[in-house]
Amino acid sequence: MRVYNTLSRQKEDLKPIDGNSVRMYSCGPTVYGYAHIGNMRTYIFMDLLRRALKSNGYDLTGVMNITDVGHLTSDGDAGEDKMEKGARREGKTPWEIAAFYTEAFMADCARLHIDMPEITPKATDNIQEMIDFVSELVELGYGYETSDGIYYDISKFPNYGKLSGINLEDQQAGARVDVNVEKRNPADFALWKKAPKEHIMQWPSPWGMGYPGWHIECSVMSRKYLGEYFDIHTGGVDHIPIHHENEIAQSEAINHGKPAVKYWMHSEFMMVNNGKMSKSLGNVWTVSDLEKMGIPPMAFRYFCLNAHYRNKLNYTEDSIKAAVISCARFYEGAFAHKGQTGEVADQLVETAVREFFDAVNDDLNVPKALGIAWNLIKSESKSDAIWQALIKMDTILGLDIANYQPAAKEELDVPAEVSELLAKRAAARQAKDWALSDQIRNTLGDMGYVVKDSAEGQKLERK
Ligand code: AMP
Ligand code: ZN
Repeated sequence: MRVYNTLSRQKEDLKPIDGNSVRMYSCGPTVYGYAHIGNMRTYIFMDLLRRALKSNGYDLTGVMNITDVGHLTSDGDAGEDKMEKGARREGKTPWEIAAFYTEAFMADCARLHIDMPEITPKATDNIQEMIDFVSELVELGYGYETSDGIYYDISKFPNYGKLSGINLEDQQAGARVDVNVEKRNPADFALWKKAPKEHIMQWPSPWGMGYPGWHIECSVMSRKYLGEYFDIHTGGVDHIPIHHENEIAQSEAINHGKPAVKYWMHSEFMMVNNGKMSKSLGNVWTVSDLEKMGIPPMAFRYFCLNAHYRNKLNYTEDSIKAAVISCARFYEGAFAHKGQTGEVADQLVETAVREFFDAVNDDLNVPKALGIAWNLIKSESKSDAIWQALIKMDTILGLDIANYQPAAKEELDVPAEVSELLAKRAAARQAKDWALSDQIRNTLGDMGYVVKDSAEGQKLERK
């Protein structure tokens, strides 16, 4: 399998650190509100990667954190804790907010057939580990105390910026005047915040009552569950310049300069009408909002499969409508092959399956793979061999075509005489009396009806 590594800026052969096992960490949601469809695109990317790794026979251990404290309204150290903001908005405690939106997130993931990581730890269950990690950074000389927290001194980490390719000096020069005059460098970031009285979530620490910074959570939970050096780290592209640079600075400091992650993989953003999704523009939708708009979760998943994860995906009314239609055709087209006996060359089907998985293994080229599935579906000859191949492909696509139920067609309102003839014909077919079956078909034809035979039985249409 080849994957694009943000760190090396090129596709690389995936070579796991430890034999056949792959350990993967994915930045998870901040559970202060419903996840929007842009967030869900990033988790569908994680899901596709998991499915691809499994299809290659790797023994996968995935971790996705649940951020339930410490993520401020800016990705830096400014603003209110998102959890407390959510709590104030709804007149609940941050704990209630976290429990409610974690469950909502899990339900959305299930509806989108997202293959969930094996371990989904909560930040608030790992506070002691975070305190220990920060203490060690202070001991190693990377962390220092100010009146409002413990900060990371980025001048101690010369490699800062290697993931995003930012030049620290340029960044520092361009940084706006920082209100926090105690920081040694403008880009230093909080490892631990001392809690003002009104901050609801707070824990005792060597530096008084406080709560963790957002970036430390991921360094701590990845190390705890996956070890000091693991294979893959995923997230959205917005995390590259701050969150993941900070994670690298923390984790490599603890590792005495050695890397913590072998392959960094990031998915591009979902746009709406080529612009940003934002509450103020009224274009931030959840999976449930889409359902209310008549867009089933599987049509949204299908919509995401059509774009490569490293390209922006533009959501428009027309593009999602087109996906709803083509997704329905995909299911119907696939189902038309089920149980059918049409001739199709074994080699044609085998080649399609091989090319499908080759595309998936080429840095998750799922759009190309989907095109290969479509070519099979469009085959004139309807064959169960094609249906079986599509079922294999569906281990990646995740549309669950095996359980597809065709919508019941509206029954024709027909005279009793016609119903009786249909019943007689069904009995004749059961008894393999093809002559009688054909004779009844002709009689029905004279009466203005066409009978079609399919896997589900006879279908009657008006001529
Ligand atoms: P958050 O809950 O804000 O930490 O975001 C959860 C995930 O969604 C992160 O991996 C972000 O990179 C990702 N994300 C946020 N907005 C978008 C978007 N418009 N399109 C794709 N991914 C996004
Ligand atoms: Zn993270």
